[in-house]
Formats: sequence, C-alpha cells, structure tokens
Amino acid sequence: MNGKRRTLAVFPGSFDPITNGHLDIIERSLTVFDLVTVAILVNLEKQPLFTVEERVEIIREEYQGNPRVKVDTFTGLLVDYAEKAGATVIVRGLRAISDFEFEFQMALMNRHLNSRIETVFMMPAERYSYLSSRLVKEVFQLGGGVRELVPAGVERRLREKYGRSRAPQTAPRRRAR
Ligand code: ADP
Repeated sequence: MNGKRRTLAVFPGSFDPITNGHLDIIERSLTVFDLVTVAILVNLEKQPLFTVEERVEIIREEYQGNPRVKVDTFTGLLVDYAEKAGATVIVRGLRAISDFEFEFQMALMNRHLNSRIETVFMMPAERYSYLSSRLVKEVFQLGGGVRELVPAGVERRLREKYGRSRAPQTAPRRRAR
C-alpha cells in the first residue's frame, strides 16, 4: 500500500450470534480502516448459545474471500489484545442512548489503560438500531422468524440447535377482520 502503514481496527464483542447489525458496522469500518479483526471475547462466566468455535466458523464463512476481515478470539484486557495484534483502533457499535453510558465508560477506561489505542463509534443503519444478539435468540426461541436479521449461516444453525426444520415467515400476518 505505497509503503503507507495500514490501519488495523479491532471490533470486539460476544457475537453470540453475529447479526446483520454487526455486519453493518464491519462494512462501515471497512470504508475507514484497511483491516478489521472481529475479536470474539472468550468469557468463561457467560453461558453462550454458540460455542466460540461455532462463532468463529460463522464469521469466517461470512467473510470468506475477503482478506480485509479476520476473525480471532481473546481473553483478558482488550487493549492488551489490540496492542499485541498491532491495532490502533477499537470499533464499537452505538445503537441507542442505552448503549451510551456503558460504552462511554469502557472507552475512557481503555484510554486510561492504553492511550495509543483510540475507540471509534459507528452508528448502524436505522433498521438495525433495535437489533441485538439477545433479542434474536429470544425471538427465535419463541417461534419468531429472524431471517432478515441475521446471516443465513446463523439462521440455519439456530434451526439446527432448536430442531426447527423450516424458517417461519418473518412478515407479520394480516389480521382477519
Ligand atoms: P458485547 O457483549 O461486547 O456487547 P455484542 O456482540 O453484543 O458484544 O456487541 C459487539 C459490538 O457490536 C458492540 O459494540 C455493540 O454495541 C455492537 N452491536 C451489537 N448489535 C448491534 C447493532 N444492531 N447495530 C450496531 N452495533 C451493534
């Protein structure tokens, strides 16, 4: 790249599972940074739906053939992981005001821990601003369709996990008058 240093951004999270909101943030990051590493936090205290290996596999499938997106896992301090990986930026998605306080605290704490790494916030498309991994899991478990909210690989694995053969309609049924 003309001898210019390439900017690596780390996009950390649980990604249990990855949703179209996450993909939206990754796409936006690629317009600003050269490389994006999706870094899955291995949190032994949380009981995830998808194993770390499954989450890595899903994201790899999604970005197969795109050398600008990598997937990795980490434990411990994010800034330590980012520094070791050679990243100078942490990307986080900001949905609504509810995300703000926690994200603000984390960003300032991470700056306190390592001022060489900058946190950058990106807003997803409005249609994803209500979307979360938790909500996707809840809706699917209750029988709702999530086809337009997650990549196809996630929807297929959700059906396998819950033994559901066919995806239900996402569109709400018209009420009979
Ligand atoms: P965490 O457990 O760190 O919140 P998540 O996987 O839930 O991990 O989220 C990872 C990052 O993606 C966070 O910055 C979160 O705000 C962002 N994010 C999650 N869902 C969306 C969405 N629908 N639109 C934009 N950003 C999102």
